[in-house]
Amino acid sequence: MKPLREAQREVLAAIEPLETVTVALIAARGLALAEPVVARHDLPPFANSAMDGYAVRSDDVAAAPVTLVVLEDVPAGKVPAKSIGRGQAIKIMTGAPMPDGADAVVPVEQTEPGEGEVVIRAGVSAGASVRPAGEDVIAGTTVLEVGERLTPPRLGVCASLGYHTPRVGRRPRVAILSTGDEIVPPETAMLQPGKIRDANRFTLSGALEEVGVEVLDFGIVGDEAATLRARLAEAAAAADAVVSSGGVSMGEYDLVKHLLAELGSIEFWKVAMKPAKPFAFGRLGGTPFFGLPGNPVSVAVAFEQFLRPALLRMMGAGQLFRPRLWGVLDEPVMTDPEKTVFLRVTLTPGSDGHLHAGLSGGQGSNILTALAAADAFAVVPVGIAGLDVGAMVELEMLQMPETRTAVEVLGG
Ligand code: AMP
Ligand code: MG
Repeated sequence: MKPLREAQREVLAAIEPLETVTVALIAARGLALAEPVVARHDLPPFANSAMDGYAVRSDDVAAAPVTLVVLEDVPAGKVPAKSIGRGQAIKIMTGAPMPDGADAVVPVEQTEPGEGEVVIRAGVSAGASVRPAGEDVIAGTTVLEVGERLTPPRLGVCASLGYHTPRVGRRPRVAILSTGDEIVPPETAMLQPGKIRDANRFTLSGALEEVGVEVLDFGIVGDEAATLRARLAEAAAAADAVVSSGGVSMGEYDLVKHLLAELGSIEFWKVAMKPAKPFAFGRLGGTPFFGLPGNPVSVAVAFEQFLRPALLRMMGAGQLFRPRLWGVLDEPVMTDPEKTVFLRVTLTPGSDGHLHAGLSGGQGSNILTALAAADAFAVVPVGIAGLDVGAMVELEMLQMPETRTAVEVLGG
């Protein structure tokens, strides 16, 4: 068996980042920056008011209540025409530039407007309710680095700094197909004996879309050499990577193996992991090929350990793996000491301040509902045959459970 680390190293070493492109910001979510985002100007670009109120000299209002002469009214988007002298104020809206001479804003709630004047009821210190130029970013600062992926807030950062067509790694096109004579489409109303509905194409396409790749669906292909060969060749020509599920284990009908030898340079591995021990990797012509096992949970585990990091590398992302946290195991588990074992677990925050992990269901590699319920994989390393209740275990995070139903918020 090949140690998991070694298998991951071989996969990543064989993957090259794709070329870079510029894309409209609105279409860039999830892609990895291929240029740093450097502030060409301060953010905010000018000192501005944080409140609706009156721009004043803090010295003038120290002895509040005081009456000040109001010179003008400056809404957001306009600039003050005047500067403030002793005894004067300018009415100002949130986001409007601070007038020269003013060093603070008194919120409107602390004032009483009059004819051409205003009564300031409370004093404020210098800088109160003012957002200085460069408070967020100073011009010249690198705000986002090459390899950082564009999350929604980072899209906002790019927009604020004028990076409206950022240079990013191109979005990979990934072809997926399911293999097996027993596999039928999910729309099949009546399952014939011996048939099952295709789950893998859907877990895979969903997971791929979450990574940010474009999915090309090559459907279901039976265990028939000629068809499979043709579809794989077609997929390899159309995509930056091809992913199949099924047909890489030891079964008699596991054709993918024999076939692949003809189409490219593919290796069949027994990786020291559970689930997802059988795994095929190589090239169909020049296109990277990932042959995942057929069992649905194995698909998800192989996706996380091999495919997701490889695709992120293709995209030019810096960080390739899910976050890992430590948690407390809430039930005893027996594991295979020869393999890195990925247990499907649900997480609950404990009153002890730790995350607590419990099995999310049956741990067979066909138990899809336990995968669907899981928040994380608990990763039990090679050399460990089992863990007791209360053991610390490493958690590869898939998601954090969301909280608070409408009923909880609305009451009743
Ligand atoms: P295989 O790797 O082809 O030997 O398949 C291993 C197991 O996974 C078998 O029980 C298959 O029926 C099952 N399987 C294969 N492909 C799929 C799929 N697309 N959806 C659900 N189960 C599958
Ligand atoms: Mg099969």
